[in-house]
Amino acid sequence: MNVYELLEERKAIMHGHFLLASGNHSDTYVQCQKAFTYPQDTILVAEELIKTAKGICDIEALDAVVAPALGALVVGYEVARQLQKPFLFAERENGKLTFRRGFAIGPHKRYLTVEDVFTTGSSTMELINLVKAGGGVVDGAVAVVQRQKEITLPVPHASLVLLNLPIYEPEACPLCERHVPLEKPGTKQNMQDPL
Ligand SMILES: [Zn+2]
Repeated sequence: MNVYELLEERKAIMHGHFLLASGNHSDTYVQCQKAFTYPQDTILVAEELIKTAKGICDIEALDAVVAPALGALVVGYEVARQLQKPFLFAERENGKLTFRRGFAIGPHKRYLTVEDVFTTGSSTMELINLVKAGGGVVDGAVAVVQRQKEITLPVPHASLVLLNLPIYEPEACPLCERHVPLEKPGTKQNMQDPL
């Protein structure tokens, strides 16, 4: 299954001129949720994530799957369901990733982290550290999309789609220079087709 084509078809990969949360601009924006709107697509993407995870760690040895909310909640759950492993998620509280709702990391337990997008790897790092702080071990980290070619993580990691997207500072943006209208992701122009 070609995950890139699936994401394009569901308009999860959008082309244009986008204002990123960082304030920088990009010609591509990724919103994986548009694919996860379709449960049958989520099943296929999760199957691919599991195949990829098998290449970087021993999935039989895993105790659970962990994902950060909200972006990876749906796909993380589906990966765990297919692996028949428990699923827990971390969420942001005052800007810090944390486990709530009674979730706890077991000492020496082994985890796979699942994300929708690897950007710089810093949020994955935060998740790895959170598992470590509870005495657990992250055996592997997988993501659907990787925005940048190089990310550094202290655990084996892999993604399904490598985009290697350029990011421009507003002053040096070639799209601004060509007066391409700047879009804020989530606005009307790039909404998915109504359901
Ligand atoms: Zn621009």
